[in-house]
Amino acid sequence: MKNILILPGDYIGPEIMAEAVKVLDVLKAEGEPIQWSFGHLGGAAYDAEGHPYPPSTQAAARAADAILMGAVGGPKYDALPREVRPEQGILGIRKDLGLFANLRPALAYEALSAASSFKPEVIAGLDILILRELTGDIYFGSPRGRRENAAGAQEGFDTMHYSVPEVERIAHVAFQAAQKRGKRLCSVDKENVLETSRLWREVMIRIGAQYPDVALSHMYVDNAAMQLVKNPKQFDVIVTGNIFGDILSDEASMLAGSIGMLPSASLDVNNKGLYEPIHGSAPDIAGQGKANPLATILSVGMMFKYSFDRPDIAERIDAAVNTVLAQGHRTGDIAQPGDKVIGTSAMGDAFIAVFKQ
Ligand code: NAD
Repeated sequence: MKNILILPGDYIGPEIMAEAVKVLDVLKAEGEPIQWSFGHLGGAAYDAEGHPYPPSTQAAARAADAILMGAVGGPKYDALPREVRPEQGILGIRKDLGLFANLRPALAYEALSAASSFKPEVIAGLDILILRELTGDIYFGSPRGRRENAAGAQEGFDTMHYSVPEVERIAHVAFQAAQKRGKRLCSVDKENVLETSRLWREVMIRIGAQYPDVALSHMYVDNAAMQLVKNPKQFDVIVTGNIFGDILSDEASMLAGSIGMLPSASLDVNNKGLYEPIHGSAPDIAGQGKANPLATILSVGMMFKYSFDRPDIAERIDAAVNTVLAQGHRTGDIAQPGDKVIGTSAMGDAFIAVFKQ
């Protein structure tokens, strides 16, 4: 039996999660050995238990086989002290569970090509995976802070660093992901100027020798930013560090047309994962039944693929999303002028109707 912890979070979080639960209901009724429970994270956890990642959620997250999250944060919580703000809940759970590998697929759905700001021929058939190291790099380096420099001016400073074991473990995830896809891996760094990147590249090459079936290439991050918009289909899997991945994965999300369509996974060394849409809690549309639930539903697919070793269920979910879009169902974020717009639960129901067939 697989235990799933569901953390709906704030604002649209509970609305989109209700649709993902419909998918779990169908799978359970079909006999899949899954069960789930609900917990609090982010603002909802602060409201209920006084902390964005309270002990009850911590215990449930450690015991679960996988975690499905909605989104956290929003204006209600913006004035809270930093240590109890909702994003501390996400950082806390990532750190606590050792979730170091962030996987973000960027897929261009043919039915949505008009919603993308790219020419159809640039993105038609696009299917890339960006793998971002999530727990190291300049975001977590010390020393960091403010000081007075030799000229007497105040300066801010941060420290970029990666250790060999940190790069080795993300390298293994990357090569293994490439093995399951097109067998091409592009490692993105800034080796021409950064010592951290020099070490990163050396380790990638050394680990690559263990995966002779995967073609490894290297690209500087500035060029990668350009190539992603010029010719994104040249990529299969991209692996990069935390700060470069933060920026490149957001850039790549635009290729797909809508933020409401993109799932993500954050994995530990044993493929236990936290699955969530890449978008935030969308306070501007919360409570109105307008949010697109498909990114959350696709996150359920990723959970079955990466944590439960059931790529067949992921493929079935992906195919049903394609069909629903081809049938013309559109929430506001993916609609074009003149399209009939449906709401969150209607989109969930349209998905379920196809998924059950
Ligand atoms: P956002 O992703 O919440 O929203 C950006 C825009 O996209 C908004 O116009 C929103 O309406 C729209 N949008 C987002 N998801 C949508 C969906 N499923 N369907 C239709 N439209 C959708 O980003 P933001 O406005 O910068 O942030 C809002 C809050 O979310 C902030 O508090 C931020 O900190 C938080 N946030 C949380 C996460 C997370 O939980 N992982 C990620 C990003 C932002």
